[in-house]
Amino acid sequence: MKKIAILGSTGSIGTQALDVVRQLPELFQVEVLTAHSNADLLIQQAKEFQPNVVVIGEESKYESVKQALWDDDVKVYAGMDALCDVVRMDCVDTVLSAIVGVAGLKPIYRAIEAGKQIALANKETLVVAGELMTKAAYDNRVAIYPVDSEHSAIFQSLAGEFHNPVRRIIITASGGPFRGKSREFLQTVTKEQALKHPNWSMGAKITVDSATMMNKGLEVIEASWLFGMPADDIEVVVHPQSAIHSAVQFRDGSIIAQIGSADMRLPIAYALSYPRRLPNPGRAFSFTELGSMSFEKPDPDTFRCLALAYRAIEEGGAYPAVMNAANEAAVAAFLKDRVSFLGIADVVEGCMDAFSGRAAETLDDVFEIERETRERAERLISAC
Ligand code: NAD
Ligand code: MG
Repeated sequence: MKKIAILGSTGSIGTQALDVVRQLPELFQVEVLTAHSNADLLIQQAKEFQPNVVVIGEESKYESVKQALWDDDVKVYAGMDALCDVVRMDCVDTVLSAIVGVAGLKPIYRAIEAGKQIALANKETLVVAGELMTKAAYDNRVAIYPVDSEHSAIFQSLAGEFHNPVRRIIITASGGPFRGKSREFLQTVTKEQALKHPNWSMGAKITVDSATMMNKGLEVIEASWLFGMPADDIEVVVHPQSAIHSAVQFRDGSIIAQIGSADMRLPIAYALSYPRRLPNPGRAFSFTELGSMSFEKPDPDTFRCLALAYRAIEEGGAYPAVMNAANEAAVAAFLKDRVSFLGIADVVEGCMDAFSGRAAETLDDVFEIERETRERAERLISAC
């Protein structure tokens, strides 16, 4: 039985991970559940799964969670320090990081240092601190199993092929709700339009990232760290049906891909149960039901966030961290109608242009650069 901590259990990935556990209670024991502010759902999940510990991020909600779980044998903590402590508990062997944004960085780093196996959905952490994270994982003999569907597909395509040189990685992209649209069209799109993803139901931040294609940019950086590939050998291909979740091309030209329904429970279960495949209650993929598949080149002139991500990789050092911090600030502002859809890329580019290029050698350096970038982004947003 695997003993798991789910960080961000109230979100889209977190609730789907609990669905995987619910289907197969004989395989998983939930030891830790954490949420930022959704105390009601955290309480409900704690009552159902009876974890050892829950952590609520917002300290003002501690008392209400504690009260609600008074009769249950569940310890309750609050705040970021508690989050960083509970991942190290002896009773936990695998930590699923389903927190959104850079807030997931510290706890996952602590989990790696404590030698816990990692199932990683929280792509932003590898984008901002890929070198520190992968080095810590190597030093502590920790495996990072990808939950992101594209990276799970790449991981699955590499199974049994570890001695064969890879020519390139092909990351597929649905193209999001604005595929094929012009910059003129994008000038006036609203958050309601951006939040309507054609194929996936996800949290708000990643849904906006999918609409700007920053999500694909983050995924290219994530893939380069997870699989040790230079960005030049990672190609993004738009595939609107989201059937092929990504692929690997070997030196003989053969492409091995993973195909499946757009159901995140599949990669979540694979990350938690590797190398076993678990039954999935969802609708299984069928070629004849889908009918046809199509492929296009991305349009980085319209979806500038994708081009900015390639630039961040090329500039190297802390540029991806700057790009990510600016993007998190800009997306939050877009969701509050404070910046336009196209303004998101402007804010990211403005922060990258203004960055001094200094290196981030420690986590504290990363957080300092993050903080400075968020301040700069805020100034750019206010000037919009
Ligand atoms: P979400 O917004 O639905 O959920 C986020 C979770 O993180 C919530 O449980 C919330 O309580 C917690 N959280 C938010 N801010 C926090 C903070 N400051 N401190 C501690 N906890 C905090 O997001 P999601 O769609 O589930 O995405 C989670 C991560 O997984 C993101 O990094 C996303 O890019 C990645 N991901 C998601 C999907 C998907 O299908 N949703 C697919 C691939 C990758
Ligand atoms: Mg993805």
